[in-house]
Amino acid sequence: MEVCYQLPVLPLDRPVPKHVLSRRGAISFSSSSSLFGAPDPRQLSQRRGAISYDSSDQTALYIRMLGDVRVRSQVGFEPERRSSHPYLRIDFRTLHTRLGYGSSSDGSGTERRVHRLLSFQRYLHSSRLLRGISQQIPLHILDEDYNGQAQCMLEKVGNWNFDIFLFDRLTNGNSLVTLTFHLLNKYGLVELFQLDMVKLWRFLVMVQEDYHNDNPYHNAVHAADVTQAMYCFLQEPMLAKSLTSYDILLGLLAAATHDLGHPGVNQPFLIKTDHYLATLYRNTSVLENHHWKSAVGLLRETRLFSHLPAEDSLNMERELGSLILATDISRQNDYLSRFRMHLDKENLCLSNASHRHFVLQMALKCADICNPCRPWELSKQWSERVTEEFFQQGDIEKKHKLEVSPLCDREANTIGNIQIGFMSYVVEPLFAEWARFSDSRLSQTMLGHMGLNKASWEGLQQEQTAASEEAGPSATDAENAVAGGSSSKEIPQGSLES
Ligand SMILES: [Zn+2]
Repeated sequence: MEVCYQLPVLPLDRPVPKHVLSRRGAISFSSSSSLFGAPDPRQLSQRRGAISYDSSDQTALYIRMLGDVRVRSQVGFEPERRSSHPYLRIDFRTLHTRLGYGSSSDGSGTERRVHRLLSFQRYLHSSRLLRGISQQIPLHILDEDYNGQAQCMLEKVGNWNFDIFLFDRLTNGNSLVTLTFHLLNKYGLVELFQLDMVKLWRFLVMVQEDYHNDNPYHNAVHAADVTQAMYCFLQEPMLAKSLTSYDILLGLLAAATHDLGHPGVNQPFLIKTDHYLATLYRNTSVLENHHWKSAVGLLRETRLFSHLPAEDSLNMERELGSLILATDISRQNDYLSRFRMHLDKENLCLSNASHRHFVLQMALKCADICNPCRPWELSKQWSERVTEEFFQQGDIEKKHKLEVSPLCDREANTIGNIQIGFMSYVVEPLFAEWARFSDSRLSQTMLGHMGLNKASWEGLQQEQTAASEEAGPSATDAENAVAGGSSSKEIPQGSLES
């Protein structure tokens, strides 16, 4: 959803004049759009038919398999239903056993899980973390050595090799709060937008807590990783010279909140189990709408922008939504073809606010799926985590006799075949265009890592295939797909299942 907004350009080194913060002539976010209820019908009509899938289009097919099944399945499975509040926790933990993923520093894991089982309101009242804000700054309560090492890492926060897993351990599981707070301060945004430090800290703690850290992949560390990647992109010359402070604030907040409250299952699962979120958002960008509305809820709860004119904060909420909704992978082709068209015509004009907003959307999309572009040791960990999350969903589906979603069957897929397909059909096309837009050393580094990582997965797949052939005819479907002479352009078996 492209929107045109008109906040004036704010130079980084100047305080925000009062008049800048009062909105004029902006599209108003009317109460009829029901921030906490059904989505704006205008938005829905834009969403429907925004992408069509040609059966011959393998890329679209792969994307659809990853997360966009609009057909409601008729299954006799009664999920947890919405009771009284849209923020009620989604919790599938009773349905399956999580493995040993999640926050590496999980000393307070039990306490956190208990919190998440409470309703939103009870949680707010019960969270001591949120009440004792001033004593809870992690870098202050950490051992000096860890504190020093975390600070040391932050000095290189713009490094593409930044190890977010290590940073999370050094910050005692507070990577998202610590990193985002650091970046907002580094840019001088706290001062510029006259943000209340206590409110900001409280907001970030709540954001971090609302990620489900027992999700193998969609947890606060992923959000921190995306925020760090977003920072790297914001530093790219093409963006750094054109973005306003407002753009940067929005970009960092969107990155930190883009998967807020992710339940660890995908949209098709929510739809086929008649989950209340699927009903609430009419089966359209269900997760992304949930992440956005959750972020808005926390912004309002903490009153982070309450000093701004109402129109400004509403506008900011709306633009935050526009960025988060752009991460819906099922709309990948829409965004990619628009991006390609702009690049072909060389008509991206970054003095134009709507064009800058579009570039921010593309930057966030890149940051969200940049795992294959990281160095192997980091990339491999992300691959293992995301696959485990898929497989855990598959396990739930099997247990409840639901059709197992594509890529989610651990008997028929391997990390390698999922990764090779994901890179070939989703990541490579996006980063090829990004490199055209931002022809920089970082872009070349990312493409280089992706090529090496893909070759590594292909090598591992071949080894597995050889081992399976030696062991006899019991190879998995995925192995058979690779053994059947696939080049890297072959769609993995998992995506051919339906
Ligand atoms: Zn994400």
